[in-house]
Amino acid sequence: MIKPDHVTTTTCPYCGVGCTLQLHVKDDFIYKVTSPFDSPVNHGNLCVKGRFGYDFVYHPKRVTKPMIRKTKQEAGKRTQAFDLSEWREVTWDEALDYVADNLVRIYQRDGSDAMAVYCCAKATNEDNYLLQKMYRALFRTNNIDHCTRLCHAGSVVALQQAVGSSAMSNTASQVIQNDVFIVTGSNTTENHPIISLQMKDAVEKHGAKMIVVDPRRIELVDFAEMWLPLKPGTNVPVFSAMAHVIVKENLVNHEFIANRTEGFQEFIESLEKFTPEYAEEISGVPAEDIRKAARLYAKAKNAAIYWGMGISQLSHGTASALALIHLAFLTGHIGRDGTGLNPLRGQNNVQGASDMGAMPFHYPGYMRVDDPTNRAKWEKTWNIAEGGLSLKLGLTTTEILTHAHEGGIRALYIMGENPMMSEPNLNETRKHMSQLEFLVAQDIFINESGAFADVFLPATPFAEKDGTFSNTDRRVQRVRAAHPPRGQSRPDWQIICDLARRIESRLGVASAFWDYSNPEQILREMASVNEDYAGITYERIDKIGLIYPVPHMEHHGTPTLFTESFPRGRGKFHPLDYVPVMEEADDEFPFILTTGRVLEHWHGGTMTRNSSLNEAYPEARVEIHPADAEIHGIRNGGPVMVQSRRGMVILRATVTEKTSVGVVFIPFHFAEAAANLLTNDALDPQAKIPEFKACAVQVFPARDGDLPNPEAVVERGRY
Ligand code: SF4
Repeated sequence: MIKPDHVTTTTCPYCGVGCTLQLHVKDDFIYKVTSPFDSPVNHGNLCVKGRFGYDFVYHPKRVTKPMIRKTKQEAGKRTQAFDLSEWREVTWDEALDYVADNLVRIYQRDGSDAMAVYCCAKATNEDNYLLQKMYRALFRTNNIDHCTRLCHAGSVVALQQAVGSSAMSNTASQVIQNDVFIVTGSNTTENHPIISLQMKDAVEKHGAKMIVVDPRRIELVDFAEMWLPLKPGTNVPVFSAMAHVIVKENLVNHEFIANRTEGFQEFIESLEKFTPEYAEEISGVPAEDIRKAARLYAKAKNAAIYWGMGISQLSHGTASALALIHLAFLTGHIGRDGTGLNPLRGQNNVQGASDMGAMPFHYPGYMRVDDPTNRAKWEKTWNIAEGGLSLKLGLTTTEILTHAHEGGIRALYIMGENPMMSEPNLNETRKHMSQLEFLVAQDIFINESGAFADVFLPATPFAEKDGTFSNTDRRVQRVRAAHPPRGQSRPDWQIICDLARRIESRLGVASAFWDYSNPEQILREMASVNEDYAGITYERIDKIGLIYPVPHMEHHGTPTLFTESFPRGRGKFHPLDYVPVMEEADDEFPFILTTGRVLEHWHGGTMTRNSSLNEAYPEARVEIHPADAEIHGIRNGGPVMVQSRRGMVILRATVTEKTSVGVVFIPFHFAEAAANLLTNDALDPQAKIPEFKACAVQVFPARDGDLPNPEAVVERGRY
């Protein structure tokens, strides 16, 4: 039995559950991961990613030295370089001077609108706060975003419009306090495994009734009272029809509506058309099931709604989320322990990165950038002359790339994200990336996006840095280094500070503060303006974290929001119309493709595909219903070509009743069969989130020889 040199308690770097990890370290190697039973988040449970997905830290392809491309890249002719022989190792001084010279050159030539940055939902709060500060304070731009745009932007906009706050209203573990709960657009078992355990406990040990609304027969259906298998993208008619039933059968909470909401009269007029029969025609869900689900939810003493990207990743993602919010308003199922509205956040720190202002419309604390009062607060904090910060709303992730052309975005800085896997319609994304004049990648591996870069800055993964993550419960938790950084890699916050000082000296300004001696100083600077974090110190969150809002040092956190009122005052109903998905199935493309995650992998695969988890799930699969497989001559395990109007992938089939007739599912983790080559880049007009969850495809049998070789991708140097 190995005796550890030490055990470091930290927070899982994968999903938004934010499980507590204990990293057992011997000779500066993590050899085992456990979790304490008294963790309030996961009670000692871990999924396969938290338990076994840490060895990417030691992968031989991890890049731990700063590097510059040997061949100068020209806009329009930019290429990918996975092979290290196409790069030269440089010192940190040379790399950072090179970045500072080029960013300042482009800024002084083309101005703020030419500059853009992707922050990172995997990095710490402190890393994200500093990177948005650098771009706002030094380059005077709000062209700042991160992958929240690609997962829950629809939910964020809807919640902001309806209640004035975009986080979960309750903690996930409160699910056991409900009689009834709805899970929709979330394959919770694979995306938030520990929350799915809590949901199953709620059913099996506490007698709650679960209603699953999802196009796929996900595992939670086995535990559900009802399953409503709707067609992808038909959330608005199904949930509006539930609202219709609640109103028509007078199951509404009149007191809550009168005291806490506005716009009810106009809203119920808009509901007239959403009869259950109308919804059945569009969604395929039997009208009687819609009625039954509406009654179950409305008559419960305590009821809650949990949702995932199946709600938000649509060209009408904002409307989808609003349709859920209306159910809570109608019944008053919000503002008490257990009850509420819970968008399950995907990445480990997507909540925190959003809180830190890694977005184009908001400073830290969701303060609008176009409000001069907010601007003045941050100018004072960052020691910038009055009027120095920009009031102009920035571009979102997808817009940043579509604006990569002469007269638009010329320089892009990517910290830890991988748009060449995560953006929709990747063939177009490739063209946009090629148009950049200067590209910086700050990461741990050279992934598909980093391979386009001019310079690579080696950062440290979670196990080699200190800071905080904020989980989907709004719990701010410590991240702690288990051992020193490998090679010359540095924590992101240190890289940013070093670079910011170089940029300041070239710009001839010396205003904002960059000489932090530890990450807690960074968090305290942010918390001096963002009241939600005002009472958070590293000492106070040392053991179990604190759930924000924590408005002062004596405050113990706020697990349940909206108990008395909503941040915007009254909750606002928004009349809705049904808008179909942008691309429906037709004769040429008769299937609807929907995309998502599998348990063993995470997003673009930069971490999990470089870990031993890749052995458990080594290649992409397309799930297809047996009836469809038979008609199209597709066998289980056989090679299949999936084609959309934008691209094509070849991968093996899994013939399964998990997916519905007419729907196919592909996980988006696999570079060699990237689902996003197929997806539609149509955007929700308000949230600017792409329609990842529904596009039309055709499916053909292929030959074994057509299959891409995942090993070849590994050899190429991608992993
Ligand atoms: Fe990590 Fe999420 Fe798994 Fe917990 S459920 S161990 S946070 S990936």
